[in-house]
Amino acid sequence: MKGITTFDQYYCKGCGLCVHICPTNIIFLDKTTTNHKGYNPATINNMEGCIACGQCARICPDSVITVKRINRV
Ligand code: SF4
Ligand code: SF4
Repeated sequence: MKGITTFDQYYCKGCGLCVHICPTNIIFLDKTTTNHKGYNPATINNMEGCIACGQCARICPDSVITVKRINRV
């Protein structure tokens, strides 16, 4: 795991852009829940697969994604 990616699910509009751009395919829309806007918010189960590329955060139109890079020694 090279990064920790978090989503502000309250503001996610479920557009799926982050799902499609993630090179390791670890982002998905959580069909088991809806936020206050009525959307299935983006989430990640397998954070081990995150390479901290930041593409999801850059493409999100509502800037609700934060990627924290982990520096290993
Ligand atoms: S930082 Fe890159 S690998 Fe990690 S969730 Fe975002 S797009 Fe996927
Ligand atoms: S790109 Fe942003 S608004 Fe769209 S599904 Fe992903 S987190 Fe939600």
